[in-house]
Amino acid sequence: MSQKEIKYCPEGHSTADFAYSHLKNSIRSGGICDLCTKKHFIQEFKTWSSGNANIDKIMKESQINNIYCKLQWIHYDDLKEIQHLADGIHGSVYSAKLENGIKRSWNFIKKDWKYNSVGKKVALKEIKDSRYDIVEFLKVIKTVNNSDFIAKYYGISKNPSTQNYIIVMESFDDDLHKFLTKNFWDLKWQTKIDILLSITKGLRILHAKNLVHCNLHSGNILKYSGISEVYLDLCKLENGNNKNNKIYGSIPYIPPEVLRGNKFTMEGVIYSFGGIMYELITAQQPFADQAHDTYLMIDICNGVRPKVPDFMLNWIPEWYLDLMYRCWSDDPSKRPTSTELSDLFYDVALSLYGYIMHNNVMQQLEIADENQKNTSKSQKQELFELSPYSSKSHPQSCYISRHIYTFHGLRCLLEEIKSGKSSGIFFDNFI
Ligand SMILES: [Zn+2]
Repeated sequence: MSQKEIKYCPEGHSTADFAYSHLKNSIRSGGICDLCTKKHFIQEFKTWSSGNANIDKIMKESQINNIYCKLQWIHYDDLKEIQHLADGIHGSVYSAKLENGIKRSWNFIKKDWKYNSVGKKVALKEIKDSRYDIVEFLKVIKTVNNSDFIAKYYGISKNPSTQNYIIVMESFDDDLHKFLTKNFWDLKWQTKIDILLSITKGLRILHAKNLVHCNLHSGNILKYSGISEVYLDLCKLENGNNKNNKIYGSIPYIPPEVLRGNKFTMEGVIYSFGGIMYELITAQQPFADQAHDTYLMIDICNGVRPKVPDFMLNWIPEWYLDLMYRCWSDDPSKRPTSTELSDLFYDVALSLYGYIMHNNVMQQLEIADENQKNTSKSQKQELFELSPYSSKSHPQSCYISRHIYTFHGLRCLLEEIKSGKSSGIFFDNFI
């Protein structure tokens, strides 16, 4: 240990000072002091503005109060090699290169910023929908950014030609749906359990902060290639209304109580998670063989749930099926919690990696793996193509999130039409 411990920086800050309410100042020999960093962030407040005082306030607060998550104003000129990836209901997604990186700490030796992610690929979400509440989104991000199993958000930029705000975030190789489409037949239970464990750990972090992910499906669970861990994209959180006329999402993942018009709760997210459990064992998203319309909404409210093809049943442990159907309980109080799920998948993962003794859960997985091994990959694909629940999706299925009238909303709309207050032109959104 040749390096001498530094207790004071040139500004006179001491390691005994509190840089953040819960953390003492850290002064590192490389020239980093948390209090100097904070001071320089504050000095630069006057050099940037998003044009929206509320957005500026949240970003400034994150820079002053949060040691790990400092949301930053990112100049559009710093985003290079912008390429369009996809369009969604709120806007478009692009990939880009972050030329100058993100300011991380002030270096008092070099008298300059230390940057992270220089030249790194990032994802951009340009918000084109004026109804999208970016301020609410940033408030949530400020509380959970830099958590494990949740995608990282770097800050905000603005497209000078459209004047739309852009969320700048970590870029991934795939979403879970695309990953499963490419790799399903080669997947082992170990990878499936790792994926489920990281999703439930991410949900547990959100639930501990009373945050509800209102749009959980395999398209917004993100993944790097070569790592089985996945990360949640927090595109839609918390919906405070007691009764909803409209809900944003994809019908097969929306719990029956929300389709009826009730609030999206933590128990509701567990129902959506059941759809992810289903896709992991069947290679298809729930209700892929049906039109995603009002008839399906009625079926779901009447207790209809996706079916698992018979020929796949001996590749799936019984406890897994029981758990999946518990997640889909019509009664939200009967669904497992994110804590119960993450504890369970954690124990299964420990068994699979050989850290704890085999138990009943483990034995069932071994039998399932053995049964699957006895069917060749080509046989499995052939059986799948012949199955009535094959990957050939119904032309009116829709896994892209959209605004959907709840039954409560439909009733209000019909009342308005009956009373002559509405002509029913809003039926363009009726599905
Ligand atoms: Zn200092």
